[in-house]
Amino acid sequence: MSKFIVTITPPTPNGDLHIGHLAGPFLSADIFTRTQRQKGHDCVLVSYSDDYQSYMLRRGREQGREPAQIGEENTRKINLSLKMAGIEVDHWMRSLDNTCFRDAVLELYHQGVNDRNIYQKTVLAPFCRACNVWGYEAFGRGQCSSCGQDSDASQCEECACAPNYLYMKNFRCKLCGGEHEWVEKDHAYLNIGKNVHKLRAWLGDSAVRLNSRAFVERELAPTPEDWQITRHGDAGLDIGQPHLGKVHTWFMGMAGYIAATREHFTVNQQTPELFDSFWRSDDTTLVGFLGYDCLYSHGIAYPILLAGSPYAKKKQRLYTNMFLKLNGLNLSTSRNHAIWIRDLVSDYDTDSVRLYMALLAPEEQESDFVETQFVEWHQTFYQNTLETLTVAATQESPHFWLDGMQRNEHKLLCEVYNRWSAVTSADSFSSRNLAALAVELYEMAYERLQAEQPLYYLVALASCICAPITPTLSRQIQKRCSINEALVLDNLMNANFLDYSI
Ligand SMILES: [Zn+2]
Ligand SMILES: [Zn+2]
Repeated sequence: MSKFIVTITPPTPNGDLHIGHLAGPFLSADIFTRTQRQKGHDCVLVSYSDDYQSYMLRRGREQGREPAQIGEENTRKINLSLKMAGIEVDHWMRSLDNTCFRDAVLELYHQGVNDRNIYQKTVLAPFCRACNVWGYEAFGRGQCSSCGQDSDASQCEECACAPNYLYMKNFRCKLCGGEHEWVEKDHAYLNIGKNVHKLRAWLGDSAVRLNSRAFVERELAPTPEDWQITRHGDAGLDIGQPHLGKVHTWFMGMAGYIAATREHFTVNQQTPELFDSFWRSDDTTLVGFLGYDCLYSHGIAYPILLAGSPYAKKKQRLYTNMFLKLNGLNLSTSRNHAIWIRDLVSDYDTDSVRLYMALLAPEEQESDFVETQFVEWHQTFYQNTLETLTVAATQESPHFWLDGMQRNEHKLLCEVYNRWSAVTSADSFSSRNLAALAVELYEMAYERLQAEQPLYYLVALASCICAPITPTLSRQIQKRCSINEALVLDNLMNANFLDYSI
């Protein structure tokens, strides 16, 4: 049995979640966790609300309300949307004014200072006197110093780099469009340059998708800039060093995952030993699910912070995703071009949305959700095909689930076994390929039905493989057709069917 800490990047609680969030880290992390549990592994899945985001200040200004109040309201919405979509996070932490969170941030910060990875430097900071805001992130916009695209300071939505506002062209106040004043201030910095060798070694040992690997390699060559981690007059956590400002939220992500797990086990479950067994053990694998735009913090800063801490992990896996489009255009809540998760799962069966989103998962590249295609697929495949197959499998009802398999088909089962093992492995996980495999098996069963051949074992396999994606549907099919998931999985994991078919 292996142990996994599974994390989802914290969403900013300035709005509800739309289908882009679902197709990104949320659904994949949930499917990953359910799959590993299906295989008998021990997992804890955590996330939290990104209450210290600079954008919370901007939203507060726009709405004339306290950011904390907006955060609380949206966290409730976000949690309800996740529940409606069947995303089962073990613990969702509120980070605002949370002692667990603050302790973890301070621990990693002081560790960084002791390891000489964090140092102080005097640097100009952008301030708009007219609006009384600092332009570190939500209140500063210009052209990214890496790719040249229009971007807010701090985190480029286009290329995922952390653009340095000092080198961004046409840099302006986001609110009034005016130029900032430049004020000399002390800041804390994370030393990236002296950790390049360590980061290269980390990259070599970690499973990271190809485009993410290329990003980290690009960032490290030739000489990376160090990373500013404190800000004055912006959102962030007070670390008792007013001359340096507050640490910003991008610095605090790893501390957030540690704190969420600690709060889960020590406060909610009263089992502090389980926190230790997950976080203080070298055997645990840390698996992060994140949007590509969070790659700088997760692929560069956090490995440095974690390496020197008691929570260091030998095995880390980073699963980034690219972005989902809607009917060919970028999702945008400000332009009202989005579909909310809660609306879609209210109109359609939750498992149908989960399966379709898994098939579309923008893992290595963008994908497009076209509403009319989904509606048609829902009618033809999800409702008609699956119901017809379930009825046929019920009628077949063999003594042993593999009874209908023909002698020459063991090659097919070997292939299913190999593909399933690869796509569910923590080293090469893909919810998209898992969904594709299950749908292929259902479609193969449908062909058997047309040819009046036995199909029970294909339906049994598909429903078991697909259970982490469509938990309710798979349970219904298994109940109606008397499929024993534990037995099928045991046969699949141990490749017992090879003996059977010869
Ligand atoms: Zn950029
Ligand atoms: Zn301004």
